[in-house]
Amino acid sequence: MPLQAVRPKILGFISEQASAWLVALVVLLAGFALTAVVAWAAADLYQQQVRQRFQLLVNERYSRLQERFDDQEQRLNSLRRFFVNSDDVSREEFDGFAQPLLLRARAYSWAPRVYREQRGQFEKAVSAQRGTPFVICELNSTGELAPAPERDEYVPVLYSQTQSLLGAPLGFDLLAQPLRRSVLERAQNTGKLAVSQPMQLVGVEPDYATGVLLVAPVSHLPTSDQSQNEPYGYVMAVISMRQLVADGLPKPDRDNLVMQIVDTSDVQKRVLFESGNAVASSDLVGARRLTLGDHVYALTLRPSQVFDQANHSSLSTILTMGGLLSLLLSALLYVLVSQRQRALKLVEQRTAQLRLREQELRGAHGQLRSVLNAATQVAIIATDLRGVINTFNAGAEQMLGFKAEQVVGTHTLESLHLASELEARSASLSVALGKRIPASQAMLVESPDNLHQAREWTLVREDRSQLTVNMLATVLLDDHGLWIGHLAIYLDITEQKRAYEALAARDRLLKKLSAHVPGGIFQFTLEPQDNWKFIYASDGMRDIYEIETGVLQQDAKKVFERIHPLDAERVRASIRLSALQLSHWREEYRVLLPQRGLRWIRGEATPEELPGGGTLWHGYVSDISDLKRVEEELRALSITDSLTGIHNRRYFQDRLKAEMVRLNRTSGALSVIMLDIDHFKRINDQHGHAVGDGVLQELCKRISQRLRRTDVFCRLGGEEFMVLCPHTDGAQAYSLAMELWASLRSVPMEPVGIVTASFGVASWRVDEGIDGLLLRADSAVYVAKQAGRDRVEAQSVC
Ligand code: GH3
Ligand code: MG
Ligand code: MG
Repeated sequence: MPLQAVRPKILGFISEQASAWLVALVVLLAGFALTAVVAWAAADLYQQQVRQRFQLLVNERYSRLQERFDDQEQRLNSLRRFFVNSDDVSREEFDGFAQPLLLRARAYSWAPRVYREQRGQFEKAVSAQRGTPFVICELNSTGELAPAPERDEYVPVLYSQTQSLLGAPLGFDLLAQPLRRSVLERAQNTGKLAVSQPMQLVGVEPDYATGVLLVAPVSHLPTSDQSQNEPYGYVMAVISMRQLVADGLPKPDRDNLVMQIVDTSDVQKRVLFESGNAVASSDLVGARRLTLGDHVYALTLRPSQVFDQANHSSLSTILTMGGLLSLLLSALLYVLVSQRQRALKLVEQRTAQLRLREQELRGAHGQLRSVLNAATQVAIIATDLRGVINTFNAGAEQMLGFKAEQVVGTHTLESLHLASELEARSASLSVALGKRIPASQAMLVESPDNLHQAREWTLVREDRSQLTVNMLATVLLDDHGLWIGHLAIYLDITEQKRAYEALAARDRLLKKLSAHVPGGIFQFTLEPQDNWKFIYASDGMRDIYEIETGVLQQDAKKVFERIHPLDAERVRASIRLSALQLSHWREEYRVLLPQRGLRWIRGEATPEELPGGGTLWHGYVSDISDLKRVEEELRALSITDSLTGIHNRRYFQDRLKAEMVRLNRTSGALSVIMLDIDHFKRINDQHGHAVGDGVLQELCKRISQRLRRTDVFCRLGGEEFMVLCPHTDGAQAYSLAMELWASLRSVPMEPVGIVTASFGVASWRVDEGIDGLLLRADSAVYVAKQAGRDRVEAQSVC
């Protein structure tokens, strides 16, 4: 599969080379631009919506105000009609009619026209009617009501129904003021409702004092002969602009609109009403015209800050949110792009590694194939799970005679094995493992007692001949550890087996030979690190040392535990010397055996130098205890006089030599006592040779009894004897000789009687030789003989 196909599709439109920072910056700028466009569109829509909402509010407010103005006209008209249609209206009737009309008007009043001549009567009549003094009055210079001066005509307020707590300004002459007069005149002239200029109302709370008078002339019903019907009074509504306009509307702090009402007919353009709330910073304005009576009022409406707040623009929110979203998006893109680039880099790295590994694997595969084919002495055969051969190396071809093409994919491993052998192995494995093992698996299954061990098998060649091999089988696993087949390695061991058998035959021969050879045969090494080792030890070695051969082969030093302590060091030294000089080793030594006790052993071996620096001996050991015993006996015989049993001349000479050597090394004393039986020839002659022999024996017995343990008693020959006295000076020797002489002659010997001998004593002198000493002893005997025999003669001078 091409690698591009598996690349991640996310953000595929962004070039792989594009910097993550650049992408993030572009997205951020695009986000800001988009936010600006949306904000602009939203602002435009907002303006339209605000304008529409404002127009709706303006229309609604205008409608409500115009309704109120119309309503005030209708109410006054109805009061007017009430007066027109009534002949005479009493105070109670007026109150009863006007009371329900008091809505958004401060007061309704009735003011009749009173002429100069009627004033007095009128005031009296009203005073009488009311029960309190009634005077037509006007506002004086101090702003208080005062009786009006005389005039042609008065229009005093007679009835009044008011909401004011200050009460009605009864008697107040409306003609006394120019503004009021003007409106009365207009009403009179037009016969219709007339509205005053804005004025300060009288009898009204200061808050409501700014207002207008709405005046309607009241005339009698016209008759046929009257073309001009003069009004006889006026009904009026005292209208406070604040009450008319503001009452029932939202309070200033909650009103969306800021209102201003200006009387258009007023040259001064005074403001009749103005809302107390603040105007919003907006260019929105609504202008309408309100009509009341004969006046037109300009109504100006502006949005208040409440309106502004209620229609708050979402522009800043859009900008903030858009900016934040752009930032988030750019950050997200930065993360995604940088992650993607990292991932792509990782993919490239891994791909490169994979390619490298693939090349290595190819190389390794090639090497493996070369190794397989180079191993011509070893048959390497691999199978799949079914046992079908899929690898057959050159060694296998050479060993079995098949060509790889013949067997790969067609033959099984089983077909190469001897069927009967597989069957037998299958049966034994089935028993050992407790489950049935088919013959085809028999060569691959390992028995519990023989794990990972090469096993001997018989293979059948293409020409049906057989060969013996060693086989090692292993399981083949893939990279995931799954079992994919077996690998069998065969080694032709025909030659090896033959050699082994020859070797075994030689071993048997050696064993037989060594069994018939007295003693033991061995191979022994002394390594440079002072390791003593028996390479080989025949069974005879066990009898010699009473140590098992296996133990000897493990630890040769066990032998030294058996060797007599007096001989052990000598044996060690001789072995080392043999190794040093590569000289033939021959040693006789004693061993102390647990069963047979002390035995004499003789060992002989020939050394050779080992390549590593050690020494190897081939040799034998034999028990020479019997030989030693005979030797001892022979030696004893050789130094013993057979007739008397004491030492003979040879022994005397040997001992004397030894003593002389000692004397020459260390100073000391040595003496000899020589004795010769007197007239022995005569004894022989008189009693026979046998009696003579008996005398010799008896003499030896008596002398021996008297000698010290250190003294050596010898028969020199015939009837001559010698006593060797080590560490004995002349005097001591003489004394001893006297003792011997006495013991001999003191008791007679049957049948001979008293036997005597002549004694000659000689002591060793410094620098004297053997011959000198003996000569002096002999001389002493001679002197004794000459002196008459049967005596001791000491030889002190040569
Ligand atoms: P003298 O007092 O001078 O020594 O006289 P003698 O007879 O002892 O001396 P002589 O040397 O002439 O004689 C030694 C004799 O000892 C001669 C020989 O027949 C005898 N004789 C030597 N050896 C033996 C022996 O083994 N047994 C016996 N019975 N006689 C021996
Ligand atoms: Mg003699
Ligand atoms: Mg003699």
